[in-house]
Amino acid sequence: MTTHVLHRSLRHKLPTAVAVDGVRLIDGQGKSYIDASGGAAVSCLGHGHPDVIAAIHAQIDKIAYAHTSFFTTEVAEQLADKLVAGAPDGISHVYFVSGGSEAIEAALKMARQYFVEIGQPERRHFIARRQSYHGNTLGALAVGGNEWRRRQFAPLLIPVTHVSPCYEYRDRRADESAEQYGARLVQELAAAIDELGPQTVIAFVAETVGGATAGALTPVPGYLRGVRELCDRHGILLLLDEVMCGMGRTGTLHACEQDGVVPDLLTIAKGLGGGYQPIGAVLVQGKIVDAFERGSGLFQHGHTYIGHPTACAAALAVQQVIARDNLLDAVKRQGQGLQDRLQRKLGDHPHVGDLRGRGLFRGVELVADRASKQTFDPTHRLHARIKAQAMARGLMVYPMGGTIDGQHGDHVLLAPPFIVTDDDLDQIVDRLAAAIDAALAELPATR
Ligand code: PLP
Repeated sequence: MTTHVLHRSLRHKLPTAVAVDGVRLIDGQGKSYIDASGGAAVSCLGHGHPDVIAAIHAQIDKIAYAHTSFFTTEVAEQLADKLVAGAPDGISHVYFVSGGSEAIEAALKMARQYFVEIGQPERRHFIARRQSYHGNTLGALAVGGNEWRRRQFAPLLIPVTHVSPCYEYRDRRADESAEQYGARLVQELAAAIDELGPQTVIAFVAETVGGATAGALTPVPGYLRGVRELCDRHGILLLLDEVMCGMGRTGTLHACEQDGVVPDLLTIAKGLGGGYQPIGAVLVQGKIVDAFERGSGLFQHGHTYIGHPTACAAALAVQQVIARDNLLDAVKRQGQGLQDRLQRKLGDHPHVGDLRGRGLFRGVELVADRASKQTFDPTHRLHARIKAQAMARGLMVYPMGGTIDGQHGDHVLLAPPFIVTDDDLDQIVDRLAAAIDAALAELPATR
């Protein structure tokens, strides 16, 4: 079949998704796939949830679209009320957008405008981390630390200083405790701030739990609190990106709750609407909104589809179902169940170096040798082979290469829907283990 869709890859043929059933998608041949990655950590309620679909239908019948420079809508107001009620301390407003990259772009501009409004226009630098992902638009790509994604576009990107990720498996020294390692990372950030000049830095940007680029990298205890204190000392904003790890994925509504840290700007997207509609948002601290109010009286930004009523209706329904059905408890319980199964099946595997993550957000890092943590030859594209072998077995997972530096390393990210059952988890882990072994068997003897 010829296609006129410019797909992500021009080399691979994709199956056609024709139907859905809870945690499963079905293709045109009738083959069923367990969605163990929620696409890319999106489908928190699985597929075809009747309550969300009913809410979308009702909203379309009422009012599908109204431009936000002319009107607000009840549904946008209700969703913002709900999000602020569940947000970290001091968050007073929500800026709606249509996805994660747009949320980051808006947050970067809010941070810059904040300092212009309060009379500190000399602040112009962002600091972010290597091995991060913040989206594919130019601003988001610039703060992102995925070398492979950035490389060919580098001449177009604003200069951003990147510091080390919090990557305990590879970077904590044997003579350090987790807390000491975290303190060392905070020192590195402090040095980067000093180098740029503290009065010139706008914000530090980080995923609370690293997602797509390095596979569920969790912050060590105390690290984010140290970052928060450092930012406060210099009047620098903390922008936490929870587009992937937020909205319940790690077992609390916001991942940063578990680190005892309150950001100035918090971006959310994927699990907000669960894939039923494109929606993202920036949760904003009151001091930033106050500065806009006292100053220019506006946030100088906007897109045609911000605050889209149908998208807001979907997100409101998703969030209501999560609360009504106690799904954050399910994430904690099933997340532990997933980790236990991974540990049992893969914990002693000669090519599994690390099993990490929080809640239903888990990473499996593959290594050629466990003792030395040597990675596989990147030309073998082990991650792509695992994805193909998993799809052949009716399993969707989210593998990536370049885990440690954009080139070397392979991992698999798992982010199943919050409604996943014990039986689903058994099948996910069995199929994943079989896919990993089949992919490894394809590699030449010298790896
Ligand atoms: N930020 C993070 C942490 C992400 O994981 C992603 C997407 O994977 C984005 C931003 C970009 O989101 P989107 O693909 O919706 O633009």
